[in-house]
Formats: sequence, structure tokens, C-alpha cells
Amino acid sequence: MKPSDHTSPDSGRAAATSDRTAPRVPKLAIVAPCYNEQDMLPISAPRLVALMDSLIADGLITSDSFLLFVNDGSRDATWSIISRLHEENPMCHGLDLSRNVGHQNAIMAGMLSAVEAPEMADAVITIDVDLQDPLECIPEMLDAYYNGYDVVYGVRSSRESDSFMKRYTAESFYKFQATMGVKTIFNHADFRFMTRRVVLELEKYGERNLYLRGIIPMIGFPSTTVEEVRAEREAGTTKYTLRKMLRLAFDGITSFSVTPIYCIMALGGIFVLIAIAIGIYVLISLLNGSAVHGWSSLILSVWFVGGTILIAVGLVGLYVGKVYIETKHRPRYHIQSHLH
Ligand code: UDP
Ligand code: MG
Repeated sequence: MKPSDHTSPDSGRAAATSDRTAPRVPKLAIVAPCYNEQDMLPISAPRLVALMDSLIADGLITSDSFLLFVNDGSRDATWSIISRLHEENPMCHGLDLSRNVGHQNAIMAGMLSAVEAPEMADAVITIDVDLQDPLECIPEMLDAYYNGYDVVYGVRSSRESDSFMKRYTAESFYKFQATMGVKTIFNHADFRFMTRRVVLELEKYGERNLYLRGIIPMIGFPSTTVEEVRAEREAGTTKYTLRKMLRLAFDGITSFSVTPIYCIMALGGIFVLIAIAIGIYVLISLLNGSAVHGWSSLILSVWFVGGTILIAVGLVGLYVGKVYIETKHRPRYHIQSHLH
């Protein structure tokens, strides 16, 4: 599982540049979003600490590297567990958001806090706290960093452990997204390495409908992938409800692509052509004196056209809704306390 050369969409120069000075040993922050993870945290935290210790021992990261657990407004004991971890081991930092803002915003809060001051992290890795993405990939990500890459995407080569439904819906979604013109890395979720300078670039994206998998390839910088085999969740249940998943899917398309609007416009064009054809037919029948005015065809078209209009209006509404949200420039999250 060597990092493969990978041309990320639009990244321009994807290959590592040899003219740069050799990357220095980074102060690494591993950012893990946690939402109602009281069952998983006590299992994950020691593993993450052990990993950090071994990376420090191998001289791959500096000794003041840290873990940052982001509590995304959990309603269970997650925050008290994080506070305890912080007391026991200064390597464990915590960030407490004032309410649940969702996976994407929680990751963003963690990454931005991790690099907020120059003496903070030189690089961040985001990983779900259920550790479904294997920790063994992290040394490979650092390898890629030492080879001059700024962004390393964890790509799921096998989703055997996901349920059939999850795998099927996720993979079809990635394909559909590509059809809609959204450039993403296939089968990459939010397990990712980024250097400080990329995170600072990411900060410039002010949007509130966050879909990081779509934004990060747009930033560019030398990027590569490492392959991972996704494991099963060991404790707790998925925090991604169907509602949250659908919302992410909608954001993933409508935040990056206006193709759905064009499709509706094309459909409108086809309907106009059909209407003209029917008009000609009616005219000919009238001239022949054999005009049969069928109730069924009339009522059918009323429903059909009415339905299409509703879809179109709804879709336009979706974009208008986004504009509405974005123009407010509301803060993405609020930090209640920061243990570091
Ligand atoms: N998560 C979060 N806020 C949310 C939902 C999820 O911070 O509103 C976190 C969750 O604690 C986990 C990660 O996002 O660390 C991914 O969630 P999960 O593993 O439940 O999703 P799945 O792997 O089932 O897609
Ligand atoms: Mg998971």
C-alpha cells in the first residue's frame, strides 16, 4: 500500500516538487470529531495515543504533536470523557462546540483551531473517532508528506465491512456526483492529511453548506492518495442518520454544480417541442374536421406538466435557499471551551 501518484482534479501540478526544501518534521494534530461517542472514545483514545507515541519515537512527528477531540454537541458523557483524557495526558486536547453542528462543521472547527496560531500544528489529519479508517495508513500519509505532498486522501479500496445498502448508496452517490460535474476523489471520505498551508487556504472558503470532499480538490496543491480497507465500527452506532446522509448528499451536489438546473431547462425545452408537435397535430385534425378532444389526454398533460413545474420550482428553491443561508455569513460553530 504505497502512496500512489495521483492527479487530483484541477490540482494543476499534482506531482511532488523536487525544488522545495525537504519537509521538516511536523507538529501533527490528529482531529477526531465526536458526537455521542461515549462508547467508542475509551477504546479509540488509547489507540490514538499509542500511535502518536510510536510516531514520536520514530521521529516522524515532533514530541509536542497532539490529538484534538472535537465534541460536536453530544448529549452523552463524551465531553466529560474528553476532559478526563486531557487531565490524564496533555497530548489530548479537546474542543467543545456549543451545539451539534454536524460532522463537516465539527471537522472544520477542529482543523482551524489546530492551526490557529503559528506555533500550533504544521499538519492535520482528520479521522472519525470510530477508527473505521485504519490507523496503519497514518505513517503512509506521513511518508507522502516527506515526499513533498501537501494533501493525502485516504481512499477506501474495500467497503466489505459496510452494509450492502451503505456501500451501494455511497458508491452510486459518488458516481452520480461525477455525472453532475462535481470533482471529488472516488471513495474518499474525510480521512485526510493536510499541511497547515492547505488548511489556511481552506479557511478562505466562507461557505456554510460545507462539503469538504468537494472543496479540498479545488484548492489544489500536490496531492496523493493512500488505500485503506475500511473496518467495522466497534462500539456505538452510526451517528449519520439517513437525514444527515441525505443532507450531505444534497450539499455535495448543489453546492458545487448547477447541472441540475440545466437539466430542468433542457427538460423544459423538450416539453416546448412536444407542445409544438401536439399543436400541429391539433391544427391538422381541426382542418380535417375530425378534431377529437380527449379528456384523458388533457388531464394527463395537466398533471404531467404541473408535476414538472413543481420539481423545477423546488429545485430552484433549493439554490435560492442556499443563497439565503450564505448571504447571512453566520458563524459555522461556536467554541464553548478549548483544552490545550
Ligand atoms: N459526527 C459528528 N457530528 C454529527 C455526526 C457524526 O461529529 O452530527 C462524527 C461521529 O462521532 C464520527 C464521525 O462523525 O466520529 C462519523 O460518523 P459515523 O461513524 O457515525 O458515520 P458513518 O461512518 O457511519 O458514516
Ligand atoms: Mg463511522
